[in-house]
Amino acid sequence: GKVRDSDFDFITILGSGSCGAVYKAKHKTTGELAAVKVIPLDISREVQHQIISELDILHQCKSPVIISFFGAHFNDNKISMYTEYMDGGSLDMYMHIPESILGPISVSVVTGLQYLWSLKILHRDVKPSNILVNTAGSVKLCDFGISVQLIDSIAKSFIGTNAYMAPERIQGHDYSIHSEVWSVGVSLFELSSGHFPYKNSLNLWRSIVDDDPPQLDKSSFSEQFVDFVSKCMQKVPLMRPAPESLMQHPFIQMYVNTSPSLVAEWVVEQQRLIKLQQQHKQQQQ
Ligand code: ADP
Ligand code: MG
Repeated sequence: GKVRDSDFDFITILGSGSCGAVYKAKHKTTGELAAVKVIPLDISREVQHQIISELDILHQCKSPVIISFFGAHFNDNKISMYTEYMDGGSLDMYMHIPESILGPISVSVVTGLQYLWSLKILHRDVKPSNILVNTAGSVKLCDFGISVQLIDSIAKSFIGTNAYMAPERIQGHDYSIHSEVWSVGVSLFELSSGHFPYKNSLNLWRSIVDDDPPQLDKSSFSEQFVDFVSKCMQKVPLMRPAPESLMQHPFIQMYVNTSPSLVAEWVVEQQRLIKLQQQHKQQQQ
């Protein structure tokens, strides 16, 4: 079905990235919640139509680890993309995630990427803010590169700097599945340690290309986790775990059968803490 802005009440803004904003909205009759990403784009009608038809493939992306797509349309020069709302938000909101939670999260991320790769889709933007969680314990990927035209149009309108890019991508070499494995490693490094692996933000891209990849502190994490992250962050793309063997890594294997209730309980608790913090802030004002 088609989605129309007039069918929804816009409730609040969830966040904004480099190229637009995401709103929480509620369907007026069914009450179903949605996340609406709105991006202004100065492009022709023809390109608009092309983007909408390319996004149609999203209706076929059905997986418990991929965000559900409801529909998209242009209003004047703005595209609105409607997807499933995730009440735990994105992982960038949480730092120092314990390994016992990052384990099942990693299983979902690897499963989701393998699903996309099996459809010949590259994600192109793996990072903590594009990994969403909810209080049912689901972990889902969003914002993957489905429409070539949309990627192109966004690239022409916005300057994106992406700190999660693999060295070969920074250098303008071939972008491949291996580059996404790098971004998984950097994301897990940051989420577990609470800080971005590269400290030199002025020459960030040069550090990523020239320096030895940083290593996690071995005393704080399991051997398996440290190994998984450092294998993903190998500078030579082919040295990283092959896409088909990612799932076989001991770190992933430790968590393949974890119950979703573990992540669910963690998200519920984190949301409770976030709300308490917000209340505290409001009382101080
Ligand atoms: P970025 O991913 O660079 O942060 P986005 O514009 O893609 O920028 O998203 C902005 C924020 O909106 C995200 O950081 C995330 O917290 C939130 N968000 C995006 N999609 C959803 C969703 N489906 N459910 C809940 N929150 C979302
Ligand atoms: Mg995003």
